[in-house]
Amino acid sequence: MISALEKYDPQIYELIRQEEARQSGSIRLIPSENYVSLAVMMASSSCLTNKYAEGYPGKRYYEGQQVTDLIENLAVARAKKIFKADHANVQSYSGSVANLAAYNALIKPGDTIMGLSLSNGGHLTHGWNVSVSSKFYNSVQYSVDPKTGRLDYSQIEDLAKKNKPKIIISGATAYPREIDFKAFGDIAKKTGAYHVSDIAHISGLVVAGIHNSPVPHADIVSTTTHKTLRGPRGGMLLCKEEHADKVDKSVFPGVQGGPHMHTITALAVALAEADTAEFVTYAKQIKKNAKRLADKLLSYGFNLVSGGTDNHLILIDLRNKNIPGKKLAKALDRARIVTNYNTVPGDSASAFNPSGIRLGTPAVTTRGMKEDQMDIIAQFINKVADNIDNESIIEETGKEVLMLCSKFRVPEHFIIPGKDL
Ligand SMILES: *Cc1c(COP(=O)(O)O)cnc(C)c1O
Repeated sequence: MISALEKYDPQIYELIRQEEARQSGSIRLIPSENYVSLAVMMASSSCLTNKYAEGYPGKRYYEGQQVTDLIENLAVARAKKIFKADHANVQSYSGSVANLAAYNALIKPGDTIMGLSLSNGGHLTHGWNVSVSSKFYNSVQYSVDPKTGRLDYSQIEDLAKKNKPKIIISGATAYPREIDFKAFGDIAKKTGAYHVSDIAHISGLVVAGIHNSPVPHADIVSTTTHKTLRGPRGGMLLCKEEHADKVDKSVFPGVQGGPHMHTITALAVALAEADTAEFVTYAKQIKKNAKRLADKLLSYGFNLVSGGTDNHLILIDLRNKNIPGKKLAKALDRARIVTNYNTVPGDSASAFNPSGIRLGTPAVTTRGMKEDQMDIIAQFINKVADNIDNESIIEETGKEVLMLCSKFRVPEHFIIPGKDL
């Protein structure tokens, strides 16, 4: 598909090739990243990118919607089915925009929202001080228990009683444990708040039934579509029927214009892929791989936030190793292991030079890696950390990583089992 580009724009073609080589020749441990199937890639680069479709199926502001309406209706129906939701809106451009649309659907500027702070694993859009979510709204932030690294629901309830937020946000971007969405729903009910749940990272695990679902316990559920869900880049909102109208109006015309129909088309494909037994097996393996990687890292003396993981994600607290997160992340990148540096709870260092790194297994699991490969990856990470200033060992590790990568299929052409493309 991409090779036709060589004729038209050799410069960009060459850069895409370079990125393909980088993606296939490195171990991708960024927990928010994945590799989409060839089918999702194809739908995403289809002629649907040419169509404006402001509005919703049946009530658009432009003509020529014979096909777009059918596609969006399919995407919505598939989303409702796999998430068991009354209503789905598939138009959000991204997770961040979906969150803004969720708040805008329920409350007014100046009202109070309460979310997990960024330094404790929350997302920027949950009210962190540099985000518009803290400028449009009054923001109160909760933390994890600094001793256990876990959410403390009674502390969250106390804070909600004291601050009377209009929205309580559950969900995180760097939290390695299962979140009790019912507990959040109960706290919101008790304190008269709406509950918005952001499952951007874990929506694939939720669909597969290996993480509890917030859908019965939240007024609005927000998610990205490209993390564990393994679809195109985008966002999505799910809600109860009573909020359906408000949610749709908030997305369009509230915060967005025309939906990206090529993305919605690709999302429809991904949602069907997620509705298969293979996807459940995939999600279970993500979790098994994360557990194994965590166990091995612990055995090498790494400190993990909360002592391990229940999901797809691991946070290493490097303070006992005396290596700054950024330094290790950069050394690992030179060894072809791609992670991101991250704050850890109780971190006194800045977000730009924090004390941790964040790892996740969704992408390597898509490539077909299993527990044995997690052992090898943990060994690589330990070797780089132990030899952080030894460039020749880092380079040598990079060569070993390349060898491992060559044994696991380049996901550019990864195809859902049983589907011959
Ligand atoms: C990734 C993420 C988002 C933002 O998604 P974008 O598509 O990057 O805007 C929002 N919330 C959480 C919890 C996330 O992890």
